[in-house]
Amino acid sequence: MFLTKSKYTQGVCCEKKLWLSSYQPEVAQEANHDAVFETGNKIGELARGLFGEYVLISKEKGYQNMVEETKKEMNRTPSVICEASFQYENNFCSVDILKNNPDGVEIYEVKSSTSLESIYIDDISYQAWVLQKSGFTVQKACLVYVNNQYVKEGDLDIHKFFVIEDVTHSINFEEVEKRVNDLQKVIQQEKEPSNDLSLSCKKPYDCPFFEYCTRSLPKPNVFDIGWSTRFSKKIDMYHRGHISYEDVIEKEVVNDKATEQIRFVLEEKPPKINPEEIKELMDSLYYPIYFLDFESYQDAIPRIDGTKPYQQICFQYSLHYILEENGEILHKEFLSDDYDGNPMYGLCKQLCEDIPMDSCVTAYNKAFECTRLKEMSRMFPEFAEHLLNISEHIIDLEVPFAKQDYYVREMAGRSSIKVVLPALYPNDPTLDYHNLEQVHKGDEASNAYLSLPNLSKEEEETLRYNLLKYCELDTYAMVKIWEKLKEVS
Ligand code: SF4
Repeated sequence: MFLTKSKYTQGVCCEKKLWLSSYQPEVAQEANHDAVFETGNKIGELARGLFGEYVLISKEKGYQNMVEETKKEMNRTPSVICEASFQYENNFCSVDILKNNPDGVEIYEVKSSTSLESIYIDDISYQAWVLQKSGFTVQKACLVYVNNQYVKEGDLDIHKFFVIEDVTHSINFEEVEKRVNDLQKVIQQEKEPSNDLSLSCKKPYDCPFFEYCTRSLPKPNVFDIGWSTRFSKKIDMYHRGHISYEDVIEKEVVNDKATEQIRFVLEEKPPKINPEEIKELMDSLYYPIYFLDFESYQDAIPRIDGTKPYQQICFQYSLHYILEENGEILHKEFLSDDYDGNPMYGLCKQLCEDIPMDSCVTAYNKAFECTRLKEMSRMFPEFAEHLLNISEHIIDLEVPFAKQDYYVREMAGRSSIKVVLPALYPNDPTLDYHNLEQVHKGDEASNAYLSLPNLSKEEEETLRYNLLKYCELDTYAMVKIWEKLKEVS
């Protein structure tokens, strides 16, 4: 079995992770990484143009062919080779971009993130080691990542879009060699390594084997504690043997909200409601009341002038509203069809028509809506005053749940709307996101919107309808939560 750069970095994090991904990949928790891969691929392809003309080694015919093709190309200097591939004993690596100079090579590893992680140094160190062992002088090893301060104006400037950081000085060839030898043994052994849980289970990425590795712990356990209890704290408790809720409550100091979460489970407590605090929030609302929710997508490579990499681009909103006490629940909505332009312009224009100045607006986790409104106010000065006015008047319906003024066991230490809604209205099919067609959550909404221009007219209409239904449920859910808060206060 070959060690590759991704297997090497897995092994650096945790030997068990490397072994499981090699021998028991089926026990990994399924996660939809399609969007992440797609972004990575797009950014990788974009970076290929950084040093002018290049030759691309095709992945289609497998490792051996890639190595042979690279050998031929390496005879030509100077040149730039993308996916240049090398093998040293049972070690294989493809270099994203290789500059083949007459007296050595420069290697560039492209990342789609906007900052450096130490695991990237391990990644490029492994590649540099394979190349050195293959007889090349590695003159330079660099990480290429996305500059999140870049603002697109006109044609995309890849030299400004990317940051190139020289990390040659961080490479320790002896250390890599020792690790490679250790990890080679791991991927050849039949027995599963016995690594215990550690910070590596969550950093730098959530390990897909976490469920598997915690399968024999009591349920619920220390890792089920919510309320922002840091993972490092949970790992610390775990290593001290304080794993079950009984252990934690007896022997640990956890914050008040976590303590309450545990007590609710152990003592089977009924719902907790602080009517006074909730009343205070309810009293701050005034008619007409608007319930607002945006949908957005993140563009890793900005398409719209004035936007940055990974900026949230709002393309849709739903707005329920009630004009007076006991009034009818009314609804307005917006879904852009300006697929080639800036969907935020039409959205802001209609939003300013739909919500009068100085209105009482509610959102659930208002930080998101307020940040988007401020960003859009900078982008469109003609709507700035109105957008900022909306932002200033937003009241957050999540507060009573985040502060545990309203808590039921089923919330399990969390206050997101997707947890709170079924906890307040169990078994209500009209509030069940599973009953929607095509779009059930935020990332599906983003992907759906981005796919619209490529669909037939009929498919587009159906998907637009389902996008509208999804967003409508988000704000209808807010209305129902508001009703429940009103009732209990
Ligand atoms: S969950 Fe943790 S211990 Fe298990 S394989 Fe992943 S990193 Fe290793």
